[in-house]
Parts: sequence; C-alpha cells; structure tokens
Amino acid sequence: MHVLYLKCFECGKTYLDTRPRYRCDCGDPLDIVYNYNEIKRKISWTKLRKRKFGHWRYIEFYPIIKNKNIISLGEGATPLVKARRLCKKKPTLNNLYFKCEGENQTGSFKDRGTTVELSKALEFGAKKIVVASTGNMGASISAYSAAAGIKAKIYVPKGAPKEKLQQIKNYGAKVVNVDGTYKKAAELAYRDFKSGKAYLMGDYAYRGEGEKSIAYEIMDKINAKYIICPIGNGTLISGVWKGLKELKAVGLIKKLPILIGVQATGCSPVVTAYQKYKEIVPVKPRTIASAIACGDPSDGDKALVALFESKGHGVTVDDKDILAARREMAKNEGLDCEPSGAVAYAGLKKLKLPKNAIKVAVVTGHGLKDLKNV
Ligand SMILES: *Cc1c(COP(=O)(O)O)cnc(C)c1O
Repeated sequence: MHVLYLKCFECGKTYLDTRPRYRCDCGDPLDIVYNYNEIKRKISWTKLRKRKFGHWRYIEFYPIIKNKNIISLGEGATPLVKARRLCKKKPTLNNLYFKCEGENQTGSFKDRGTTVELSKALEFGAKKIVVASTGNMGASISAYSAAAGIKAKIYVPKGAPKEKLQQIKNYGAKVVNVDGTYKKAAELAYRDFKSGKAYLMGDYAYRGEGEKSIAYEIMDKINAKYIICPIGNGTLISGVWKGLKELKAVGLIKKLPILIGVQATGCSPVVTAYQKYKEIVPVKPRTIASAIACGDPSDGDKALVALFESKGHGVTVDDKDILAARREMAKNEGLDCEPSGAVAYAGLKKLKLPKNAIKVAVVTGHGLKDLKNV
C-alpha cells in the first residue's frame, strides 16, 4: 500500500484514504498522493517487465488494498500501431503511433479507470452504483458492475449514440435518459448518492488513477516525445500527465513527453482557457463528438495545469475536421474509431511537430460505438 493521503488539488487540504471521497470540502477535485520513495525501492523496468503486459503490470501505482476486491476484464495492453500511410501524405506525421484504446473490453479507455474505481468501491463495501455518462463510462461501469454482481444505474444525457445505450443495457444496468446535457446528468447522479441510494462513480480521483496506465504502457514500449489526447472532463489527460510524472519520480523515465490537448470547437472550455491564459468558463456543448461534450469539465483545472506543466499545446478541431480524421484513419490505416477517438489525430494534423519526434495519438474509443457520425 503506497497511498499516503488524498489532497485537494486547489486548497491543499488532506484526507486519509479511509472512506470514499469525491471532492474536497471546498468543492474542488482531490488528488491521491503516494510514497514514491517506497515505490522506487520496489520496482524497476526489469521487475515490471517480468509481469504480463497490460494495466495491472503497474499495480504499485494504484490505490487498491486487497487483491480479492479487484475486478478485471483484461484492461490495457492495447496496440500501439505505427501510421504507415498517413505519414507519406504529410511529413510532419512522421513517427506517429496510435494507441488503440478501442481494444479494451468495452471499447474505450474508460475500462482502465473503471477497474480501479470499481475495485476501490468494493473495498469500501459498495452495493449499488450510480453514475452520469455520455455513454462510454456507463458502458464500462455496467460491464464491471455485472462482473462484480452489483447493480448499476446510469444517467445519460441527450446526444449519446444508441450503440452505447444498447451496450449499457446489454450488461444489465439501468439507463435513465436525461433531457439535458452531461452536467444535468451529473447533478442527478450526485443527488442519488447524497440521498444515500448508491455509491457514486465517475470522473473522481480513483478513476484518474486507473487512466494513468495509458502513460505507463506507452513509455514501457516507446520513447514518446509528444502524447496527444482529447479532452472532455479532463480526467484522461490529467491522468496521463500524472502517470508520466510518476514514472519520472521513480526513475523509470528521464524526460517528460510534451502533452497536446485537443477539444472540439463547439466545446472547448479547457483549450480556450489555456490559449487565453484565463480561468475556465463553462459552455453549452455543440459537437458530434459526444464523448467529449463536457461543457463544465469536472477535471478541467487539472487538465489545464497538465498542459501548463508540460509546456504543451491546446488545439481545437471542428466537427468536419473530426469526421475527416475518422475517415482518414480508417481508410489509410485500418483503424476505425468513434468521433472522439479521432480528435487527437485531427488536432495533430493542425500542428507542425518535428519530423523525427515520436508522437503518440490516443485513440480513445472504437468505431463500432458510433455508427452514425462517419
Ligand atoms: C471519456 C472519453 C473521452 C474524454 O475523456 P475525459 O477523461 O472526459 O477527458 C474521449 N474519448 C472517448 C471515446 C471517451 O470515452
């Protein structure tokens, strides 16, 4: 057990990891603080690489206590596929790799967060789960709840693709359609939790801990100079950044890659704040990339800090760019993804990164999850 405590990302107040906490008393997100000296003493690449490749290879970096509570459906070990044809069209796309997260059990990287978050929920004795989701988190949590034998209720906002709703139902979870945006769905889920009806899951500290494994797996295989991620709630990109900083803290990498965060033009509160050097201003989302249509991102500040710390880039792409990117990836590289999955590549196309630098675009969700927006 390497967790020391939970710490507020804003005010710095600390809490022990003895019961589920979602936010600091001040209302801001919490971060989990580990004893990195202890982790450093215990692991090395040689030791890690004796274990099976995948999400759980890096168990020292997760906040789980007892192995018996771990629910795993084989997360991670997703392919890193080198772009072979796209780079011929554009030299700045040389040395581009796609981290294909659609290969996870429920078709998106959310499974990495869910395995940690749900295992932690079992640790805390959760019997029933509630969550708000634009679709993928709901599908993921439904699957893992089924595997754990507990009930799940998913609040889904307007605009979620029907494939994702069906996926949630297939796993036996209850779908509640919300006549409103993700923000409204999140409020309803929070209300159920507050009234004591269920254990709340979603973009909270434990999920981010699981999503760090994208960074571990990438750096385990390749010396990436740039990592490009879409930003919705910001949990993914801030998790990736934390994962990278941890690898450096325990001596597993020497140099931190540079992050590139990409949002849809019709929902870009984080990138706009980054570009203007201003606070995040919530917006009403307008984009076909439903998985990143988070107008008031819960981990927005963490995402913003990740971009600043890595001296990265913030890019916006419109729906046309996103659809073109999806088609290009499918037709040139054989990789079909949902619109949000193509956002990283669409953003990368707008930048002129050094030709020889290794770039990894995180392809967050599978093409079969949205068969309409192609
Ligand atoms: C959740 C999700 C995102 C956005 O991740 P955040 O953690 O909300 O920033 C991007 N793409 C897909 C496919 C997703 O499911």
